[in-house]
Amino acid sequence: MLVDCHSHVWAYPGHLSDDFVNEANARSRGHKLDLHIPPEKHLKAMAGVDKVIVFGLRARHSGLAVPNDYISNYANEHPEKVIGFGAIDPATDPIEEMLDEIVDLKLKGVKLGPIYQNIHPTDPRMMHVYAFCEAHHLPIMIHQGATFIRTGPLKYAFPIQLEDVAIAFPELRMIIAHLGHPWVAETLVLIRKHPHVYSDISALHYRPWQFYNSLILAKEYGVLDKILFGSDYPFTTPEAQIEGLRNINHFAEGTNLPRLSEEQIEGLIYSPTLKCLGLDGA
Ligand SMILES: [Zn+2]
Repeated sequence: MLVDCHSHVWAYPGHLSDDFVNEANARSRGHKLDLHIPPEKHLKAMAGVDKVIVFGLRARHSGLAVPNDYISNYANEHPEKVIGFGAIDPATDPIEEMLDEIVDLKLKGVKLGPIYQNIHPTDPRMMHVYAFCEAHHLPIMIHQGATFIRTGPLKYAFPIQLEDVAIAFPELRMIIAHLGHPWVAETLVLIRKHPHVYSDISALHYRPWQFYNSLILAKEYGVLDKILFGSDYPFTTPEAQIEGLRNINHFAEGTNLPRLSEEQIEGLIYSPTLKCLGLDGA
């Protein structure tokens, strides 16, 4: 089964600020991004996958405010395919109310992004969210890694800061987005020792040298089975991500550089995401 564990829907204008969209375009390697992604457009882009996890993001500091019912309405219309995650901005949202809303809307997980939200990942408000998610079997997708947003503090972005979370909440299922780039080694040592901490490869293929090195490092640490398939649509697509993966050995052609086997590549594409997240029933 092909599962995309990382994708977005949101309305622009409406859910994203002009500043966010302008900064995204300034960093988009020359092509203009279409960031108005209503459910219909998302569903079309996901024609090639069997299941897809979808979320918005809530981060007032960075100009993102996707309502949770926008996600749940979409997921409810396509229960066979679309798995909706809620989002909460622990820095500015009323935490109890939002968490209850996420449960009431039957969303299956929670998206967080401390660097976008301008909050330390172990701030007491964040710890409260983790405790709730652990108790309610809600996996979290956490953007712990760099971003293009100028006001996003990199000091809150180091993956290693999630170790205290994994120790405090050992049953919490957590995906560190984008291998925690550029701090991939921190992410790999973290997912190696904490059974319920995973990472995803979304949006990495367009830095092919870093992508190759990251996956070879993951192979050497023996953690390829903790890495889940995802695209980060609309920033890229599942097809482009698969192509990037199948081209991963490109740098090794005609050299003695290490390679991923075909089996390892296909294992990354068809990762057992739902089982890892305890969402087999979803
Ligand atoms: Zn994303």
